[in-house]
Amino acid sequence: NTYTPSADRYDVLPYRRCGCSGLRLPAVSLGFWHNFGDTAAMDRMTSLCLTAFDNGITHFDLANNYGPEPGSAERNAGVIIRRQLARHRDELVISTKAGYEMWPGPYGDFGSRKYLLSSLDASLRRLGLDYVDIFYHHRPDPDTPLEETMGALEQAVTSGKALYVGLSNYDGELLKRAAAILTDRHVPFVIAQNRYNILDRTIESNGLLDAARSLGKGLITFSPLAQGLLTDRYLNGIPQDSRVAIDHRFLHEDDVDRVHSQIVALAGIAEERGQTLAEMALAWLLREDGVTSVLIGASRPAQILDDIHALDNTSFSGDELAHIDEIAAS
Ligand code: NDP
Repeated sequence: NTYTPSADRYDVLPYRRCGCSGLRLPAVSLGFWHNFGDTAAMDRMTSLCLTAFDNGITHFDLANNYGPEPGSAERNAGVIIRRQLARHRDELVISTKAGYEMWPGPYGDFGSRKYLLSSLDASLRRLGLDYVDIFYHHRPDPDTPLEETMGALEQAVTSGKALYVGLSNYDGELLKRAAAILTDRHVPFVIAQNRYNILDRTIESNGLLDAARSLGKGLITFSPLAQGLLTDRYLNGIPQDSRVAIDHRFLHEDDVDRVHSQIVALAGIAEERGQTLAEMALAWLLREDGVTSVLIGASRPAQILDDIHALDNTSFSGDELAHIDEIAAS
């Protein structure tokens, strides 16, 4: 290991308190959903991680199923941590999750105690870690009693395998019910993880945004760039090396067509503000303290460097906000 991190790394980004907890997260965090599977090159993955860490991005977000193949992102992260970042483990907040399909049969999906605890053990093995900092239930399970799922999260903490727990893709009502159980059991539930960006306002209407705030929980927002739609990537067609062109799992040409006139209009506002569209989209989320951290993805280090510049200007005029809302609703 020859890596020496930048001495100035803690001067780049603000760290925001995760709700009322003692944990602070960088305003920008890095996710491993895409670009960290077995189809990615180790050199590229390593430079993404080290660019992030050199710029104060201390939080890496994973899940059991990130790949492809499912599990490979955790395995690759484990290699990078072991080779380059082992000395800095205490400076890192590593999260993982279970809740989507991971292995065949009735015990590899959703929210049973059986699934969550065995999945966490498997995640730790792949990551080569003794514990994760945050363990999430990845999505609500309508058929498992909430008490059982929350009990599994409690055990993740009492067994020392997770320091904090989080809930992902819950709505406001369910978050409140889950939080009541976790509070009762003294489980350090500190964070909700949900999709939120200029074009997807679901958490404004399903109560999640208000619930997280009123409960004093942190909120980390995933796909803040709408998987790349809220960047300059697709303003003039579909680049060969983009997620739409090379990965057909979750983003398609149709998605680009659907929002194209909106992103062109939003890019116009960004330009007037002297920002890239990506910077403006992240600044819009970070403009208030309701969002603890924006959870970006990146296919190249330069994108991370662009994205952290969002913090250079997070104030918006009333007119700008109204114009952005109008475009988003159009
Ligand atoms: P984003 O919305 O940030 O999209 C990331 C993509 O945007 C990149 O891969 C890149 O696309 C493009 N991009 C990023 N920065 C720039 C830039 N400055 N200029 C141009 N293009 C840019 O997030 P993701 O959808 O990737 O999700 C982020 C993370 O959120 C995931 O890794 C995961 O950790 C988490 N997540 C959680 C979910 C959950 O259910 N809890 C669900 C989904 C995500 P390209 O690859 O084309 O270059």
